[in-house]
Amino acid sequence: MPPFGHRDTRYSGYPAEPAGRAFSRDPGRSEPRSAQAKPGIRLDESTVIKYLSMAGGDPEQAARLRRFMLASAAYAACVPLVWLACKFNLIAPKPAWILVAMMVAVNAALYAALRTGVNRKFSDPDLTWLHVFLGNVVVMVAVYSFDQGRAVVLNLSLVVLTLGVFHFTTREFVKAALQILAGYAAVINLLMYFKPETVNVYHEWFQWAGLAAVLPLFAVIGGRISGLRQRLGASNEELRSALGNVRQIATHDHLTGLPNRVLFNEELQRALARAERHARPVGLFFMDLDRFKNINDTLGHQFGDRVLQEAAKRLASCVREGDIIARLGGDEFVLLVEELGDPAALTEIARKLLAAVSELRKIDGQDLNVTLSIGICAYPADGRDAKTLLSGADIAMYRAKDRGRNGFCFYSAELQSHTPEKLALEAGLRHGLERNEFRVYYQPKIDMTTGAITGVEALLRWQHPEKGLLLPEKFIHLAEETGLIVPIGLWTLREVCTRAKAWKEAGLPRMPIAVNLSALQFREEQLVPQLAEILKSTGTEAGILELEITESMVMRDPDLAVKLMRNLRAMGVHLTIDDFGTGYSSLGYLKLFPINNLKVDRSFVRDLAHSKDDVAITRAVIAMAHSLEMNVIAEGVELREQLEVLRNEGCDEFQGYLCRPPLAEEDLITFIREGGTRGTLS
Ligand code: C2E
Ligand code: MG
Ligand code: MG
Repeated sequence: MPPFGHRDTRYSGYPAEPAGRAFSRDPGRSEPRSAQAKPGIRLDESTVIKYLSMAGGDPEQAARLRRFMLASAAYAACVPLVWLACKFNLIAPKPAWILVAMMVAVNAALYAALRTGVNRKFSDPDLTWLHVFLGNVVVMVAVYSFDQGRAVVLNLSLVVLTLGVFHFTTREFVKAALQILAGYAAVINLLMYFKPETVNVYHEWFQWAGLAAVLPLFAVIGGRISGLRQRLGASNEELRSALGNVRQIATHDHLTGLPNRVLFNEELQRALARAERHARPVGLFFMDLDRFKNINDTLGHQFGDRVLQEAAKRLASCVREGDIIARLGGDEFVLLVEELGDPAALTEIARKLLAAVSELRKIDGQDLNVTLSIGICAYPADGRDAKTLLSGADIAMYRAKDRGRNGFCFYSAELQSHTPEKLALEAGLRHGLERNEFRVYYQPKIDMTTGAITGVEALLRWQHPEKGLLLPEKFIHLAEETGLIVPIGLWTLREVCTRAKAWKEAGLPRMPIAVNLSALQFREEQLVPQLAEILKSTGTEAGILELEITESMVMRDPDLAVKLMRNLRAMGVHLTIDDFGTGYSSLGYLKLFPINNLKVDRSFVRDLAHSKDDVAITRAVIAMAHSLEMNVIAEGVELREQLEVLRNEGCDEFQGYLCRPPLAEEDLITFIREGGTRGTLS
């Protein structure tokens, strides 16, 4: 997974961060690599920074410096020992201080090598081996130069040997021990040759034998400790990296590598708390790729994923250090911008984001035209909590889409006319489709004379997660206002066609299904090809589908409507004028429309039993429709008296609670299997 958006490389000791965020404010959240370079050495953050700056930003070198300092501390520990030995006249002061000076010189030389980077030229750039070797040389020179208390000085060689604990294997320890023994043997020989008067040979060789007995043991134990440290460090490291992976998976989107909704929500809460504390604004961008579904549908989901990855990369590339960009899901991205110097910066950022995505012209040789719609909300002006801000930015983004897409829109007073409840409903409506919360209910249409089921009308319901099953009056208007009715309508058509096919396969009698169209859908140029695609992909016969349109939809642009209706009829789809009598349709036009059915509005049916006027109107409508060879359906029939009047006036079919309310699919199937109302209503 390629991590994008990583721009914060304050010092290279930090591992590449997950995409979309910069950690400069809180570097402690990521583990410095210097601490990982050698297992077992864990450093706190200020130490890391100190050594990194000493090492010119090279984490390996910083770790070496750190180890060198620890080793030098062992030398430093020798100084008080030497001082004490002088104090108690165990050793002579002059050679003692020469010894200290040599130790300081060796350490200073090695320190200089590490600071200048000369050590990198050595086969062991850690210089541990050299450090031990020089330490031994110093001790041996001292042993040679002391005429009394050689044993005291010799003991320091053990201190020197402990330096290897950081690095040495048992073998290397043994090597170092042999070096000490060889060095001491050489010193004894030199003493015998040059200063025989100062040396008790038996005493020195006895001491040498003592060392020879102890050092191998020391080496083995040291080697074990060193190995144990390394193993412990390695398993620590494994554990840490496994935990890091778990967190990465839980908080990041696997496709784009961006933070996911969980992490974004956490960050948003934190950012708002910071903003409140420091009284500064925060900007929230809600971004959605335009017509991404088309890409998925036409070029496949795999290609869609590639587009999302590329878009994520581009979006992440134009945000600043400290901003947080995340993928909420699907083609939705969000960006959180803190430290907004100037409110105009929001516009500038939005422009940058739009430009970045529109540059996405080709992926894998495929020409593309990807655009983005952005909604912008600011804290505290547009809201003070995460939920309000997110839903505000979301709504603003949809306004940007309504305005023609490929643009941005600020959450504004105009949008504030929406009550918070409405805002929430609007946001919910949009996600309702993704979360598959819509349901189709079916109301049977009954033949007036035989009582047989002639078909059903598909009526939309929304199974709201909190509010329960909602009727269209609660959401259709909002869906139309926001343009969401177009995708919702397409979903309904597809669902209905899929069910029609399933019913056919289940052996149910052939039954036309009427689907209500909204004015917006009826204006979409895409309606005919989209419908053709739905029929084809679901394998449904066009003749089974009836589309219900209202007078006002037709009368808005009658010429265009006629053209569209003819195209639909040519496909084999049937057409119904719904709610007839409530609009202003001209009877002259009605003649021109290729309509199959006419539905008398419920308002005329309601008073049929009492209102002579309504009976007269219904009679005229039925007569007119019949003269135009249209089938007449009465809707909203609740009473037997209404049914009687309609039947007397020659109405063909009816729909209403008298028979059944709209039913869930399984209830409809039971109703059909039980033979409908045949006999009971005739
Ligand atoms: P409509 O197309 O005129 O649907 C008939 C409405 O009358 C339905 O309301 C139905 O439940 C109700 N109804 C049926 N029989 C009776 C009765 O005996 N008495 C009374 N009082 N009402 C009865 P519903 O389902 O609430 O739908 C309301 C409107 O919402 C529909 O009116 C239609 O315009 C719209 N609608 C429903 N589904 C869709 C859809 O999928 N797309 C679009 N664009 N609009 C839809
Ligand atoms: Mg209808
Ligand atoms: Mg109606």
